[in-house]
Amino acid sequence: MPELPEVETIARTLREGVLGPALPGLRFIGVSTRWPRHFTSPRLPTFRKRIQNRRILDVTRRGKYLVFPLDEGSLLIHLRMSGDLLLAPTDQEPGRFDHTRFHLDNGWDLRFSDARKFGRVSLVPDKEQLLGSLGPEPLEAGFTPKLLAELLADHHRMLKPLLLDQSFIAGIGNIYADEALHIAGLHPLRRSDSLGEDEVHALWHGVREALLAGLKHNGASIDWVYRGGEFQNHFRVYGREGEPCPECGSTITRIVVGQRGTHLCVHCQPEVET
Ligand SMILES: [Zn+2]
Repeated sequence: MPELPEVETIARTLREGVLGPALPGLRFIGVSTRWPRHFTSPRLPTFRKRIQNRRILDVTRRGKYLVFPLDEGSLLIHLRMSGDLLLAPTDQEPGRFDHTRFHLDNGWDLRFSDARKFGRVSLVPDKEQLLGSLGPEPLEAGFTPKLLAELLADHHRMLKPLLLDQSFIAGIGNIYADEALHIAGLHPLRRSDSLGEDEVHALWHGVREALLAGLKHNGASIDWVYRGGEFQNHFRVYGREGEPCPECGSTITRIVVGQRGTHLCVHCQPEVET
């Protein structure tokens, strides 16, 4: 599933026009879809009317959402498991997974390619309706070690599922949670309120370092159709069960935490009673 670095990379690509026209300034003139269930709030018939002639002001990201502020309201797209957004001329045949196509006033489409069809599209007057419950953005200045210490102390939960909770911190999924915990040297089962000051700082650093490494490589291309990112070639532990730890050479193990495969080095991330 695309996480913060992958979604951020897509937002930047669409905003700057890396693989087609830059979107800011263009208007939507229609929508075609083979999968009306992409449209949740509002449903398709209303969405169709409201998107008509709306001008795109910017392309941004909040958590794992792509956010398109419009001259009236905001378009939000959540890629979920396998979604990707690409640009193609409207007269070009849609690809196998291009289930939803937003037609633009310059003869191009914004195409929502979504092999597993779990993606979601919303058009809301106030984006906070959907984004208001998200936790802090981990790469923004407001995310300080002090804030993280307070958030951790407020919970008595295992670190791995807590990091995946979008209301705790926004944008982290299975890849970056495992990478962050390895950088921090913390076991995924540690309880959040058991961390000392140095450990909190290590986790803060680990979260940011993992995400920044992902961004540097344009995200990871794994388990989904997102093309271009190559962070998968730089994973420390994620998906590397049985391979050596880059820090100490011990064998990386995989455990299951809250039904999610979790990769760690038990030497660098010792289990401690908490
Ligand atoms: Zn190690």
